[in-house]
Amino acid sequence: MSNFLFPSRLKKLRSKIGNQELDAIFISNAENRRYFSGFTSSAGYLLVTPDQAIICTDFRYTEQAAQQAPDWRVERIGGKPDWIANLVKELEIHKIGFEADDMTVNTLERFKKSLKENNVYAELHPTSDYGVDLRAYKDNNELELLENAIDIGDQAFEETASQLKVGMTEKEAAWIFEQAVRVRGAESISFDTIVAVGPNAARPHHEPSDSKIVEGQTIIFDCGARFKGYCSDLTRTLVLGEADDEIKRIYDIVLTAQLAAIELVTSGMTGEDCDAIARNIISEAGHGNDFGHSLGHGLGLEVHEQPGVGPNSKGKLENGMPFTIEPGIYIPGWGGVRIEDVVVLENDKARVLSHARKMKF
Ligand code: ZN
Ligand code: ZN
Repeated sequence: MSNFLFPSRLKKLRSKIGNQELDAIFISNAENRRYFSGFTSSAGYLLVTPDQAIICTDFRYTEQAAQQAPDWRVERIGGKPDWIANLVKELEIHKIGFEADDMTVNTLERFKKSLKENNVYAELHPTSDYGVDLRAYKDNNELELLENAIDIGDQAFEETASQLKVGMTEKEAAWIFEQAVRVRGAESISFDTIVAVGPNAARPHHEPSDSKIVEGQTIIFDCGARFKGYCSDLTRTLVLGEADDEIKRIYDIVLTAQLAAIELVTSGMTGEDCDAIARNIISEAGHGNDFGHSLGHGLGLEVHEQPGVGPNSKGKLENGMPFTIEPGIYIPGWGGVRIEDVVVLENDKARVLSHARKMKF
C-alpha cells in the first residue's frame, strides 16, 4: 500500500481525538495499527496526539517499523511498562483514550500501576470504534487488495471443487483449499476453512472432521484467502452426484433470497433492512427459524468488521462499503445450504466481487 494513504487516515484519527476531547489515543488493535501506520507487526502500539505519531514496539520490530512507517517516530519499549509513564511525562498528555474492545484488563492494570509508581498523572478513557468506523469504507487501494484476495479465494475454491471426490474427508478437502490459496500468492487462509458434509452442514460453523463426502448430500464450503492483509470470504454449497428434490427446494429458496438481497440493497439502507430482504423470503418459504445468523458482515483487514448486516444492524450501508451477503437454511439431522458472495456498494447499488461458480440444478 503506498504511503500517501496513511497521512489522510491519521488526519481522520486526529479529528476523532479532538471530537472526544482527548489529548491522545492509544491504539493496540493489530489491524488498526496497520491501517493507520502501515506497520504490520504482531506486537506494538500506536500513540497519537494532535502533533505526534509514535509507534511503540520492542526490539524485534523497531527496524521494520521505521521502514514501513517512515513518518512515524519509533519508540523502543521493553517488558516493564515504564515507557508509557515516560511518554506521558514527555508529551504532557493527561487524557488518553484506549481501545476498550482490544486492551486486556491485565495490560491496563500494568499501565496504571506503572503511571502510579512513576508519579505520573494520566486518565485512561475507554473508547471504541476508533478505526472500526473508518475502516468500514474502503478507498480504491483497499478495494483493489480486497478484490485480489477474493480472486485468489475464488480460484482456489474452484480448483478444490474440481478435486472433491466421494469418500474424501472434510479435512482433506480443507487442506486442498489451503494449499491452493498459498500457491496463488496469498499469505494465508483468512479464517479456518469450513467444510461440512451432510448432517454436519446443519451447524453453520462446523469444523472440518474425518467425516467423508457422501454422494447426494450437501457440502457447505466456506473459505477465504488473506492477501496483503485483506480477507476474502466465500461460501458455496455443492452436491456430488444427484441432488434430491428436498435439496433442490432448499437451495432454490436460499439462492432466491441471496440474489434478491444483492439486487435490492441500496446505499442509505440500514444493515437491518438489507437483512430483511433475504430473511422475509426465507420466512415466507417456511424456514424463518432455520436461518439463525445474520445475512452478512463487512470485511477487510479482518474477516468480520463493520458494517453489520443483521436483524439488529441499525447502521447505514453506504457507497464504498464492501460486505457479504450469505443467507442459509440449516435443518438438524438433514444438513444445510448457505451461499455467500462479497459485494461493494457503488453508485448506490451492489457490485458483486465474488466470481466463483454457483451450483445450478
Ligand atoms: Zn464465509
Ligand atoms: Zn462471511
